[in-house]
Amino acid sequence: MVETMARTRLLKPIKWVREDLKKKDSFWPTEELKKKAWVSNELIYKEAAKDPVAFWGKLAREEIDWYEEFSSEKTYWEDLPHFKWFVDGKLNACYNALDRHVKAWRRNKAAIIWEPESVNEPTRVLTYYDLFLKVNKFANVLKSLGVKKGDRVGIYLPLIPEVQIAMLACARIGAIHSVVFSAFSGRSLKERMIDAEAKVLVTADGYYRRGRSLNLKANADIGVEGTDIKSVVVVKRIGLEVDTVDGRKIVRLGLDTDMIEGRDFWWHDLMKDADSYCEPEIMDSEDTLFILYTSGTTGKPKGIIHETGGYITQALWTTKWNFDMHDEDLFWCTADVGWITGHTYSCYGPLLCGATMVHFEGAPNYPDIGRWWNIIQKYGVTIFYTAPTAIRMFMQWGEEWPKKYDLSSLRILGTVGEPINKEAWMWYFKHIGGERCPLIDTWWQTETGGALINSLPGIGPFIPTVAGRSFPGITSAILDEEGNPVTKDEGGYLVLKSPFAPGMLRGVFKNPERYEKTYFGVYGNKTYYTSDGARFLDEMGNIRLTGRVDDVMKVAGHRLSTAELENALTEHPSVVECAVVATPHPIKGEVPIAFVILKGEEGSDTIRKKLMDQVNQMIGPTARPDKIIFTEDLPKTRSGKIVRRLLKTLVKGEKIGDVTTLMNPESVEILRKKLASTKQS
Ligand code: AMP
Repeated sequence: MVETMARTRLLKPIKWVREDLKKKDSFWPTEELKKKAWVSNELIYKEAAKDPVAFWGKLAREEIDWYEEFSSEKTYWEDLPHFKWFVDGKLNACYNALDRHVKAWRRNKAAIIWEPESVNEPTRVLTYYDLFLKVNKFANVLKSLGVKKGDRVGIYLPLIPEVQIAMLACARIGAIHSVVFSAFSGRSLKERMIDAEAKVLVTADGYYRRGRSLNLKANADIGVEGTDIKSVVVVKRIGLEVDTVDGRKIVRLGLDTDMIEGRDFWWHDLMKDADSYCEPEIMDSEDTLFILYTSGTTGKPKGIIHETGGYITQALWTTKWNFDMHDEDLFWCTADVGWITGHTYSCYGPLLCGATMVHFEGAPNYPDIGRWWNIIQKYGVTIFYTAPTAIRMFMQWGEEWPKKYDLSSLRILGTVGEPINKEAWMWYFKHIGGERCPLIDTWWQTETGGALINSLPGIGPFIPTVAGRSFPGITSAILDEEGNPVTKDEGGYLVLKSPFAPGMLRGVFKNPERYEKTYFGVYGNKTYYTSDGARFLDEMGNIRLTGRVDDVMKVAGHRLSTAELENALTEHPSVVECAVVATPHPIKGEVPIAFVILKGEEGSDTIRKKLMDQVNQMIGPTARPDKIIFTEDLPKTRSGKIVRRLLKTLVKGEKIGDVTTLMNPESVEILRKKLASTKQS
């Protein structure tokens, strides 16, 4: 009998649950799901733990094509915290993502199905061969602009297929890409391009957001000024859209694009004459594939370095096992390529697996709240990966929206980016997954390169608010301040133990001290400090994440440091001093609240707007504070340091302890009153 996905039982209800998990809502894979899954036997964890280096070595040989074999006998761990994987191995990431498939039956399989924001614009489908041709051509374009192995190329593009084409073209010629999220400001781009010493920038004239054209090139121009960038390649995205307004078809005319002669080139002009084959560069396993900037606890973003062999091995295998990716699956990861999730699961991982991905250019609620669910129905998405903040947004809009669509093609759901609360987990599980689909809550970071803690679809368990166990071959621990392992019920600091995952960062660009201090300065060179709080839930090693323990917040899944925001605000001439803290938010997870002391002027809506604009210009709209509280004083220690811990307690409305040791204890009560009377956002 032919059974539809909708009727296939993928999960066992609670009565099958093991003794120790009986009291919790938890789910286990059914025999059907196990039968299909790449991994379904618990023994994998034990076997991998016996010899993680050999385990990863086996995985790296199984699916990656190497020009020259790596030598597994070498010890990679002699110089901790600096480590290497697959030493002496030679390979090319682009070759593995494309050529390998083009040479075999996947040649004409769809690699990317791209859905534009406008419902009137046609879908673009790029087969592996299409992608291969375009990547080869663009690799030649980059070469013609003087880009060589090891050079840095900035990529500042919206979610259009050219973003993956540009990334893979860099990988093909051994150039190091550094993608900057397109909603970041020109100033943010510039800061990153200066640090990366980029030679070329790939950008677009603009992009569409909720039907409006946004001028990306104007931001790119700000980002390029004062950097080493000699050439800017501009994709024409705006002005090509055909839309229907009042029943009439119209062609939207795009923004005028200022092109600087000799520096700026249209993508389509350069591609026209480019050769359609470019020999892939032979790269060492430990050659850098990309740098991705992320927020740390200081105001300066850090360039996280990922190397070729380890990163692609981990990207491939975590995609394959965490999402149980099969050839017939259709994968949709909603993350923008500007973030690590987009690098690993909207580009490298699925392509390395030979999978088909859907990408959507626009906003989730445009032209209406059903858009995402419509896309799942339209293409038959089977694996869907998104952020808890998006789920909470949809919860607020109501389950009647997903109900209008047939979501029965879905078989696996995933989340990433922040802890998912039980209500959101259950809503996603019920209204999107139809209570059939395992929900994989994946914990990871820009630094770890790929998801490292989550339940595997064929093994489980799937427990709301619990990420699960570490990926096979990865050892995590939860420690107290002294470095002792904590027991089941206490919370502690999540760490990863050596041997570290192959795809983990190898450094912070041009800043080895920051690498050593941030990640290995707490518990020593054999223990990577994640800056996340966590607790073990049971003897199996299932982990619940409790959030960041440093001054980094996750706003709608986007990583942001309080210091970056403080820097942006204090650059405004009216600001004397400020402090930013994160506070919980029902949809975005966390939002920043700024306490600002002004220079000789009263707080007003005008200055508040100016400060919001300042944040937009310096960082981007994702960083806008939820509230700006004007004050004359901030709570300080006797040595003059702002006590942010107290501000955090205040914004959460929690009880304040003893404040008598402060230099200005009265400031606390004043701030409490101000907070109570401030409603704006
Ligand atoms: P990013 O480097 O932007 O991916 O942010 C990494 C941070 O996001 C981690 O340090 C965690 O604080 C948070 N995070 C990512 N995934 C999860 C998850 N599944 N559960 C809880 N927190 C998460």
